[in-house]
Amino acid sequence: MTSPAPTTEAPTTAAQPLTVGFIGLGNMGSGMTRNLQAAGFPLVVNDIRRESAEALLADGASWADTPAEVAAASDVVITMLPTPRHVDAVVNGPTGILAGIADGGTWIDMSTSVPEVANQVREATAARGLHILDAPVSGMSVGAANGMLQIFVGGDAADVARLRPVLEAMGDPERILHVGGHGAGYAVKLMINQLWFSHLVATAEVLSIGVKAGVDLGVLRESIIASPANSNFVQNDVLSILDHGDYDEGFAIALACKDLGLSIDLARSVGVPAELSGLVEQIYRRARAQYGDRAGEMTPVKLYEDLIGTELRLGPDQSSAA
Ligand code: NAD
Repeated sequence: MTSPAPTTEAPTTAAQPLTVGFIGLGNMGSGMTRNLQAAGFPLVVNDIRRESAEALLADGASWADTPAEVAAASDVVITMLPTPRHVDAVVNGPTGILAGIADGGTWIDMSTSVPEVANQVREATAARGLHILDAPVSGMSVGAANGMLQIFVGGDAADVARLRPVLEAMGDPERILHVGGHGAGYAVKLMINQLWFSHLVATAEVLSIGVKAGVDLGVLRESIIASPANSNFVQNDVLSILDHGDYDEGFAIALACKDLGLSIDLARSVGVPAELSGLVEQIYRRARAQYGDRAGEMTPVKLYEDLIGTELRLGPDQSSAA
C-alpha cells in the first residue's frame, strides 16, 4: 500500500480552505479521504460504520452524525456509496444531504451509479441553485489509496474547473476527464467496467481452453501478447491472478454485479441490445452465487479454473517478477 500523495494545495474561500464533506468511507472512500486530508482540505465525514472514520478523526477530521449535518458543515459534499439506492437514501432521506445543504451548495457523486437520482434532485431543487457533478472513478482501491484515480466528470464546465483542485487531491491530474454534461460521467464509467469485465471473462475462457488443450500457460499468454488479440487485460491486469492468485477483494463481486446490472439498465434505457453484456453479467452472477458477495471482482476466473481442475498460475521463471 502506498502512502497518500498530496498533489495540490487546498483552494480557499476568502481566508479559509474549502471544507469537504465525505460520506462513504469504504474501500474507496477511506483512501480518497486520506488524500484530501493530506492535501489540506478540512474534512467532515460520515459512514454507517463509525469505526471506518477512526484514523481520519485522529488526524483532525470532524465527525457528523447524519448526511444533513455533513452538508450543513461543508462547502462541497462528496458521496462514495455502493449503489444508486444508497445514494438516494443519503441524499433524499429525512436526514439526508438535501436537508442540510445550503442553497447554491455543491454535491459531487463519485459512486458508480446511474443518472436517475441526480436528475431527480436537480429537478426537485431547481430553485435552490445547487451545483451537482457526477464523477465516478477507475483505479481500484490501490488508486484511491495513492491518489491516482482516473475520474470521469459529468456536469457544467464552470463547476468542473472550480472543483478541479478537490478532484486532483484524489486523482491523477492527467486523467481527470470532463466527459460531458450531467450523467456522462456515470455512462463512461459503466461502459469502461462493462468492457473490462468482458475482457476478464473472454481471457479466462481462452486461457482455460488453451491450457486444457495442453499448451503451457506462459507460452499461451506470450503468444497472445505477440498477436493482434493482445489486450491490456492479458498483458497487465490478469497477472494479479497468474502471479499471486489475487482476485482483487478490494472490489467485491457484489458491486461488480451491481455495475453490470446498471450497465444493462443503461443499454435498455437507450434502446441498444446488450447481448454480450447480458452473458457476462450471468457469468458474474454465477461466480457471486458460488463464491459469495465479498469475493473479489476477478473471481469469475475461478469458475474456469474449477472447471478445468487447474489454477491458472505462471511458474516462478515465467511470472512478471522473474
Ligand atoms: P464499500 O462497500 O467498500 O464502501 C461503501 C461505504 O459506504 C461503506 O463504508 C458503507 O458503510 C458506507 N455506507 C453505505 N450506506 C451508507 C449510508 N446510508 N450512509 C453512510 N455510509 C454508508 O464500497 P467501495 O468499494 O468503496 O465502492 C464505493 C463505490 O465506488 C461503488 O459505487 C463502487 O462501484 C465504486 N468503485 C469501487 C472500486 C473498487 O475497486 N472498490 C473502484 C471503482 C469504483
